[in-house]
Amino acid sequence: MKKSIDDLAIFGGSPSFQEPLHVGRPNFGDRSRLFERINDMLDRKWLSNNGPYVQEFERRVADMIGVKQCIALCNGTIALEIAIRALELKGEVILPSFTFVATAHALQWQEITPVFCDIDPNTHTIDPACIEKMITPRTTGIIGVNVWGRPCDIEAIEKIAAEHHLKLLFDSAHGFGCSAKGKMLGGFGNAEIFSFHPTKFFNTSEGGAIVTNDDALAKKIRLMKNFGFSGYDNVVYVGTNGKMNEFSALTGLTNFESIDRFISVNSMNYDSYRCELNHIPGISLIQYDKQEKCNFQYIVLEIDEANTVLSRDQLVDILCAENILARRYFYPGCHKMEPYRSYFPHAGLMLPETEKLTKRVLSLPTGTAVSSDEIQKICQIIRLSVSDGYETTKRMQGKFIVEPPSDAHSFKNLPIMASA
Ligand SMILES: *Cc1c(COP(=O)(O)O)cnc(C)c1O
Repeated sequence: MKKSIDDLAIFGGSPSFQEPLHVGRPNFGDRSRLFERINDMLDRKWLSNNGPYVQEFERRVADMIGVKQCIALCNGTIALEIAIRALELKGEVILPSFTFVATAHALQWQEITPVFCDIDPNTHTIDPACIEKMITPRTTGIIGVNVWGRPCDIEAIEKIAAEHHLKLLFDSAHGFGCSAKGKMLGGFGNAEIFSFHPTKFFNTSEGGAIVTNDDALAKKIRLMKNFGFSGYDNVVYVGTNGKMNEFSALTGLTNFESIDRFISVNSMNYDSYRCELNHIPGISLIQYDKQEKCNFQYIVLEIDEANTVLSRDQLVDILCAENILARRYFYPGCHKMEPYRSYFPHAGLMLPETEKLTKRVLSLPTGTAVSSDEIQKICQIIRLSVSDGYETTKRMQGKFIVEPPSDAHSFKNLPIMASA
């Protein structure tokens, strides 16, 4: 236990953790069931192209969400790209800047202009009042992002989309297993997408899905994800290769058997953080609506520098020195990343809440890879650093600041390792 700020690693103390603690370590289901299924797959000699595990996985997801159609895909980004194309979006599409950059890239990749919209600072999701201001004659659709698994104001967005005849897609990459007004995310808008990347609480190694109640749209998506093949030798559509493979599907089926455990661990971790961080002036943990289903996969703090004295970035540096690799999602906002910042250098003028929030947020490690002892230690560092914010800041001034890697999503390149 560190007693004073002299003990902090940033001031020369020994780091609290020998091994780095990452945000987004993968959760794993039962290994023996995984190996059984791998053996099955090898015996069948069926690795891809709508195999039995992919079909079973699609049924499981559709049943869980209560939606007619699930199309399993190779990742969440391709799911976005295919959904955007199948919905025939073009011209301009409105989305929040406060999202992972894939949401914007999936549009730009198809030469559709992403129009960044501000957020509601209370929910971190797209602000319906701002959406209306961004609509032009070129607008064809809206992408709502259910950030941290907390639903957007879906009703208000649906109303705007209907009034202006816009297509509505939800990026629910964070929202698997979460609900809005008692209905599972996945069933809203024209379609929704999920990501099953290992940094998400539920993974298929890499993977994603589009879910929809629109059978005709689903049929089109099934053609698109398989080169447009409608039976042997018969191509009826322009397509790509977006298929989920059998290994991913069987990993997903195995993880499904443990999904309740993942969620309960996340929920317990959330409660531990809440308890430990309560009453620290200037530090607030985002809230999840306990009336709704929730996966609790993100531990997101908002740092109010006026009260902590310490800035968010200083706190990130202090934690990094302790081997706690806290992240600044979604800093600096898509509109400040290339190519968008060159295309729209003044986009920030319309995004005051996004600009403020990206300077306040910090994500901490959770999931099955983190123990409650570790959470206590992490919170103690935060408490200690903030307890005398003036002194900590003063001593940090002129000190080397650890810049996070320029590749803001570089954790994606980490080796995916088993937790003990
Ligand atoms: C992770 C994520 C994606 C991309 O999913 P991949 O499976 O990594 O391609 C898209 N949108 C958001 C909001 C995400 O967090």
